[in-house]
Amino acid sequence: MVFDPRSMRSLWATFVVGLILLSGSPTSVASPIEEFSQDSSYDPLDELLQTIENAAAPRVMVIGIDGVRSDVAQISASREDSGFARMVSEGAWTYDSKVGPISISGPSWSSMLTGVWCDRHGVMGNSFDNHKLDQHLDLIDRVERHNSSLKTASLVYWAPISELIIGPEIADIQERYGEDADVHDRAVEILREDLDLDLLFVGYDDPDYAGHVHGFSPDVSEYVDAVKLADDRFAELLDILDERISRGEDWLVIVTSDHGGGGSTLRGHSASSSEVDLTTFMMVRGGDTVAGEMYGSVVVDVAVTALTHLEVPLPNGENTLDGRPLAFQPDSDASRVPNCSAPLVEVTFSYIVPIVQVGIILVLAVASFIFFKRRKSTFMDEEE
Ligand SMILES: [Zn+2]
Repeated sequence: MVFDPRSMRSLWATFVVGLILLSGSPTSVASPIEEFSQDSSYDPLDELLQTIENAAAPRVMVIGIDGVRSDVAQISASREDSGFARMVSEGAWTYDSKVGPISISGPSWSSMLTGVWCDRHGVMGNSFDNHKLDQHLDLIDRVERHNSSLKTASLVYWAPISELIIGPEIADIQERYGEDADVHDRAVEILREDLDLDLLFVGYDDPDYAGHVHGFSPDVSEYVDAVKLADDRFAELLDILDERISRGEDWLVIVTSDHGGGGSTLRGHSASSSEVDLTTFMMVRGGDTVAGEMYGSVVVDVAVTALTHLEVPLPNGENTLDGRPLAFQPDSDASRVPNCSAPLVEVTFSYIVPIVQVGIILVLAVASFIFFKRRKSTFMDEEE
């Protein structure tokens, strides 16, 4: 009997096709950045083998939730159907992850996505004055430059993440929405339908908003409920991802926040040295994750962990990133301590309304004073 590798390949292909059909694999979704191959050497077998290879390719989902205090993340995780709770039972976790010396969104999201601290990316506040983000690629840019055929998506609420930290038109799908509900619906849609997806980044914001309006505290129900809702949304994404994983896909999941809150003022997290503001949670699951509690977790680990899983080469020498893939290497050396000079007062939107109100009252008072003083002097001139 002559061994025919071709017929073995066909047999194997038939077996795999059967498996895929049995597992109810959805039909392939057309991607706008890809065109159907008209190549005359088109071979369905090659395409099938490619499909199998794609299924095993490493993929990453990073979920950032703005303004989640560690203790409130823990309250949310105490619920049975919590996504956070699943991450704790299935992966690496900590409720003691540090965001660096400045507990403000701009610096912290920048650190999370570039993998370098504020003294390198230069973002010290939400004004992004004198930032050096053009010299420090974000996670998505790094992935795209490594291999532009990888499919990336970024869905966020907070504009500066998309416009400044990632930058315009970097991800294949890069969208911003005015409501977390819309960010979430789009994330659900993409995760369900886009089988080519390699990297999904989602940035939610509701807990930060609730914290600024009602207070960042385990005793403020509006804030706690906002964290629980974000956790529930995350749990839904995790469910969809698990369906994909059951079909053989290799997904790393990271969920974390950019800062806590309520440490220095109830409704703020202003560049403070308060540990409550500077600390949040971090959870990682999939890939080479070593399950259990993580020690020494820092926000810059996010980009480095994601890039490591995606097998994107990391820069070295003086360009070495500050983060480490701590979830894969629990014994990593401590991250470098950054030297950033934080702004003394960071104006967040919760302060803008009263500042504007006081400003208007002052202007009116000064104007009335000048008006009446002039009238009085005119009147006295006329008397004379
Ligand atoms: Zn924030």
